[in-house]
Amino acid sequence: MDEEHPIPEGPSEHSRTRRAVFVDRDGTLNPDFHYLKDAERLELFRGVIEGIRLLRDHGYAVVCVTNQSGIERGFYTEENVARIHARLSAILARGGAAIDRFYFCPHAPERGCDCRKPRTRLFRDAARELGIDWAPSAIIGDRVLDIEAGESLGLLTALVPDRTNRGLALQEFGPKSPAPDLVAPSFYAAALAILHRG
Ligand SMILES: [Mg+2]
Ligand SMILES: [Zn+2]
Repeated sequence: MDEEHPIPEGPSEHSRTRRAVFVDRDGTLNPDFHYLKDAERLELFRGVIEGIRLLRDHGYAVVCVTNQSGIERGFYTEENVARIHARLSAILARGGAAIDRFYFCPHAPERGCDCRKPRTRLFRDAARELGIDWAPSAIIGDRVLDIEAGESLGLLTALVPDRTNRGLALQEFGPKSPAPDLVAPSFYAAALAILHRG
């Protein structure tokens, strides 16, 4: 999107003016086949291409932040993940859409890294690298950890309950969980709601 006018890396906090929608991957863009390894199995939910295109047409960068603990667990490699993201980008490109940048955490939860959602290092890296302003930005995800990450960054949080594991996301929300700002029945509906927020 910004190939002709690249934003310099590392703008200072006050010069971050870009708005973004952070999107989770598995269960949000594509069905959550446990530990997706093969790019050939990737498919997108209906309306995802159109939703991403809509957001970008309205000036949002779309940044994918995904936990991929299958790498450290040895179920697949970073190369598998790169192939999946290349195929995802190719599918989106055919529909006139794109992910501006992918970020993934390769670690198992036991490692206690600072990049696995709900921790926020990848989001902060993205904000620095892409010049993202938190205030007009949002997150779309299917799990409580997505909403927790978004809330701790002050993002508008949109929950799209995962249709591959119906109801799982909603069951995760306990009395101590942050409530999402909105719950949408589809990715496209979440994108529309983000555009129409006050
Ligand atoms: Mg997910
Ligand atoms: Zn990590």
